[in-house]
Amino acid sequence: MYDWNKGFTLDFDLHSGHSKGAKSTTRLLSQMRGMYMDDAAFDKLAASDDPLVYEFYELGAPNHAGDVAAGTSIVYPGKVGKEYFMTKGHFHTIEDTAEAYYTLSGEGYMLTENKAGDWVAHPISAGQMVYVPKGYAHRSINTGNTPLVTFFAFRGDAGHDYGTIEQKGFRKLVIEEGGKPVIIDNPKWEEK
Ligand code: MN
Repeated sequence: MYDWNKGFTLDFDLHSGHSKGAKSTTRLLSQMRGMYMDDAAFDKLAASDDPLVYEFYELGAPNHAGDVAAGTSIVYPGKVGKEYFMTKGHFHTIEDTAEAYYTLSGEGYMLTENKAGDWVAHPISAGQMVYVPKGYAHRSINTGNTPLVTFFAFRGDAGHDYGTIEQKGFRKLVIEEGGKPVIIDNPKWEEK
C-alpha cells in the first residue's frame, strides 16, 4: 500500500486523525479489563455501552531499524469512574528507542515511566510536541471534552511490549478531582 523504498504521501484529517484508505486498530473498553482503578465502574460501563476508548492508524512500516513507523492515535473523551480514558500504554520491545508525538487536537497527558521508577506526566495540547525518551513506557490520557489526536513517529523495528504494563500498570494515574486532572499513586500498582 505504501512504497517504503521510493516514498509516498498520505492525507490525514488533522482534526480527527483519520486517514483515507487506512484501517485503524480499535480498543473498546472491554479490551482494557483490569487497567482502570475502579473495577465496579469499569464493569458497569463495559457491560452497557462498551465504548470505543481509542484507535490508532499504523502504516505497517518495515520492521527495520532504518525505517520510521508513524501514524496517528485518537483517544476519545470519557471516564471510568473518576479516571480519564487512556491508552493501554507500552514499552518498546527494543527499550532503547524513543518516540516523538505531536498533538493535533485535544488535551491531556503523556504519562511516562521507566523501569527504574522515574516517571513524568507531560501535559500535552494541540500544537505541542512531546518527546518520549528511550527506556520510558508511555500512555496517552485524554483529560478534555474532545478527541485527543496525536501524530507519532519512532524507529521501525522498535516493537511494542504491552504485557509489562498490562501486568503491573503505571505507578501513577490521572483522575478528575474537583473538576480538574490530578495525578495520584496507582493503588493497583505493585512491583512484580
Ligand atoms: Mn511507542
